[in-house]
Amino acid sequence: MQRKLLILIPFLFFCFFVGAQTKPVSNSSQGISRPKLVVGIVVDQMRWDYLYKYYNRYGNGGFKRLLNEGFTCENAMIIHLPSYTAVGHSCVFTGSVPALNGIAGNDWTEQLTGKLMYCTADSTVQSVGNESEDGKMSPRNLLVTTVTDELRIATNYQSKVVGVSLKDRAAILPAGHTANAAYWFDDASGHFITSSYYMKQLPAWVNDFNNKNEVSELIKNGWNTLYPINTYSQSDSDNESYEGRFKDEKESVFPHDMKKIYETNKGSFRTTPFGNTLTLDFAKAAVENYNLGNGSATDFLTINCASTDYVGHFFGPNSIEIEDTYLRLDKEFEKFFQFLDAKIGKGEYTVFITADHGVAHNIGYMQKHELPAEFLNSKAIIDSLNKILTDKFGVQKLVLSGMNYQVNYDMQKIYGQHLDFDAIKKISVEYLQQQPGIQYAVDVAKIGEAPIPEPIKKMIINGYNFKRSGAVQVVLNAGWFEGYGKTGTTHGSWNPYDTHIPLVFMGWGINHGSSNAVVHMTDIAPTVSALLHIQMPNGCIGEPIKEVISSK
Ligand SMILES: [Zn+2]
Repeated sequence: MQRKLLILIPFLFFCFFVGAQTKPVSNSSQGISRPKLVVGIVVDQMRWDYLYKYYNRYGNGGFKRLLNEGFTCENAMIIHLPSYTAVGHSCVFTGSVPALNGIAGNDWTEQLTGKLMYCTADSTVQSVGNESEDGKMSPRNLLVTTVTDELRIATNYQSKVVGVSLKDRAAILPAGHTANAAYWFDDASGHFITSSYYMKQLPAWVNDFNNKNEVSELIKNGWNTLYPINTYSQSDSDNESYEGRFKDEKESVFPHDMKKIYETNKGSFRTTPFGNTLTLDFAKAAVENYNLGNGSATDFLTINCASTDYVGHFFGPNSIEIEDTYLRLDKEFEKFFQFLDAKIGKGEYTVFITADHGVAHNIGYMQKHELPAEFLNSKAIIDSLNKILTDKFGVQKLVLSGMNYQVNYDMQKIYGQHLDFDAIKKISVEYLQQQPGIQYAVDVAKIGEAPIPEPIKKMIINGYNFKRSGAVQVVLNAGWFEGYGKTGTTHGSWNPYDTHIPLVFMGWGINHGSSNAVVHMTDIAPTVSALLHIQMPNGCIGEPIKEVISSK
């Protein structure tokens, strides 16, 4: 024993010395080298170019710290359709695509029954924390494991996993099936809630957090710009016709009187940068109260900052509102990383930041600058298509809906009345293809024969889940999207503005550097799996990004 110790001591000294320079010592008693905590942050609707559009105004401790200390994958691309929140979050944490992981949209139509399904709806569970339907949620529609599940499995459930977001789907899907908890925000009460899938009642600390009523505190002075408004040189003027207006606002300008607006519109809180502040404050409380990063095994915290998405949808990417939201988020990240440095130890945790999707510019903004963009009136198109099909087949409403840029058919009628589904799809494709703004319409079952560029074809196939996706896929011209109201904007397409996402890793086990190599959203989960020496999720089709992980 004595002799062993004598041999060990210089060795430990050596490890510590080397470790201090290259890679911090982990807390693992089993000898496997792992970080104490992984924090996976998804900034909702963050376009990759926001890293640089506002770069000069970021401080040193937020986005710039990630870039200066961490590893940035400059060309991380989504390779599925549609580019929506639930789909993106599932892909990041499963390394898989809707075809395999089943999360085919935020909502989809169950193809065999025609029933609408919300991605995380689960009628078998109850809300915990309020009486509403908002908590009847679980990850049961997700058909595969997440990297967070795999961590739990790998450590025989000693790892703790917690998911946090204002949005149910963005808390639930990343945290996976085996999560200790997922929490999301209820507008009516202004509280974080969960479901009986996870627990019977909220922990005392969550009740304490809720009772502080931080929402009123955050909005009490309204929303004004962080810096003098004339310094927001990266955005349009404050009063553009294509920006959203809160009810009772005459113009969409600062300061937004959030205190007053919130009185009659509880959901408006989400559409302010303070939604991110609240989320990160709740995340800090979760770290403290679950004692994340201080247990016997590596823990995993997933965070979605959703307000960037609400603000982006409402005001558009070239608004002062979105610029201000990112400048404030940058400050929040600085504080959050400082908190983790103090709580877990600098270099003892690994953090990654990415996005679930990007966003298109407002159509009004595009047109103002002579850039091609237009609305598609999908309802009118579906109505005429139904009429054509009724004339041909003598059956009303064979098309249930256009959704997720797919056409959902009434399969009960088609199977029940032995209609020729191939003929129905052929007529649909021919009609849709002729409509202005529709670049391609394709029967996904015949996509091999379709003259569609390979990258888009691959995204359609990856996004197509036989039981949950519409049988005909529509691809619009660049810049076009479904009528969404004349103000604000949206996402969902294959185009780079919707699918080019930031991806930056920092901390334990991460190299410093950057790469312009194209990597995919599906590569994130296997990269984290490789870092942690755990099995990749069971539907994973991605590959580890080797440059990110430091060699020991
Ligand atoms: Zn989103």
